[in-house]
Amino acid sequence: MGRNYKIGVIKGDGIGPEIVDEAIKVLDALSASEGFNISYHEMLMGGSAIDATGVPLPDETIQGVKKCDAVLFGAIGGPKWDNLERHLRPESGLLALRKEMGTFANLRPAIVYDELVNASTLKPNVVKGVDIMVVRELTGGIYFGQPRELEDNRAYNTMVYTKDEVERIAYVAFEIAMKRDKRVCSVDKANVLEVSQFWRETVIEVAKEYPEVELTHMYVDNAAMQLIRNPKQFDVILTGNIFGDILSDAASMLSGSIGLLPSASTGKGVGLYEPIHGSAPDIAGQGIANPLATISSASMMLRYALDEGEAADKIDNAIKKSLAQGYRTADLGAYDAKEICSCSEIGDIIAKYVSK
Ligand code: NAD
Repeated sequence: MGRNYKIGVIKGDGIGPEIVDEAIKVLDALSASEGFNISYHEMLMGGSAIDATGVPLPDETIQGVKKCDAVLFGAIGGPKWDNLERHLRPESGLLALRKEMGTFANLRPAIVYDELVNASTLKPNVVKGVDIMVVRELTGGIYFGQPRELEDNRAYNTMVYTKDEVERIAYVAFEIAMKRDKRVCSVDKANVLEVSQFWRETVIEVAKEYPEVELTHMYVDNAAMQLIRNPKQFDVILTGNIFGDILSDAASMLSGSIGLLPSASTGKGVGLYEPIHGSAPDIAGQGIANPLATISSASMMLRYALDEGEAADKIDNAIKKSLAQGYRTADLGAYDAKEICSCSEIGDIIAKYVSK
């Protein structure tokens, strides 16, 4: 029996279709050389879903993703849909999809490739060797807390975490740390927020089951500063939804471009694999987007969802090789580039390398 995988594909808006097409090109090249078969099932979400069906997350997509082994996703959103009511906007489709899929853990690696140490706005000696995994809680916290309201003279949101929510994300972080450098830094705002005090106490409880892992705590404002001052001090950063959203974008800049970094959103069932960047409407349709974050997300999908670690290694090595050869999209054009490539040319190069 061959290895047959059913992959849901949500291309989304802006540069989404361009970058996802390149990841599929690489997966197809790999499946030929690695001997597995992938069938793709395209679904709508975000702005393109609003245009086609009137809602950002059609029922068909909710049902469709549940029948897949994993979902590869590009990005959603854009100015065309910015003035819609909040619950009808593309972003609410993504938040609802994550909730539906139960993907409570967002894994965001921030790796600095040796070839791109000059691409960071920080000094090369500060970023060389950075290898951080941000583990962000994704389906709780202030983005989902009730009550929430926009009134005439005031507006409010609620930050809430239950014990189960904190425990399950803490387990994910400690399990990952066991496979890495065995250090977890839990980031919160326990000096000000009750919800953070609760977060901290719960993480300390979970840590007792992992005596080999060193647990430290840091306030989020300090963590933002330390990420810029001395990022190599971090191995696994464990944090809540809003803090993780902000810190992982800051961490992404250590690597020089937001166009490089993948993410995995996992939980009990099917996982969602997506670049950390948005739909980049400013460069959409120009063929200049960097597809590496999405291609890396496909690698995470192979590794974590399909247990195809060797194929994932092939992608990771191909990305390093293409960077070492000096192939760059325009966002990295100023950094040791030998050739500025289009989005699809980078896809061709990685596909060629993985087929060898
Ligand atoms: P963005 O990440 O789309 O873009 C920020 C900047 O980075 C832009 O200058 C863009 O050109 C550049 N950039 C992003 N990805 C790139 C790539 N692969 N290659 C080269 N350059 C790249 O963030 P934004 O401008 O704040 O948001 C644009 C839209 O995306 C908004 O509608 C927002 O809501 C949405 N968004 C979606 C997601 C998602 O789908 N997961 C995440 C963040 C933002």
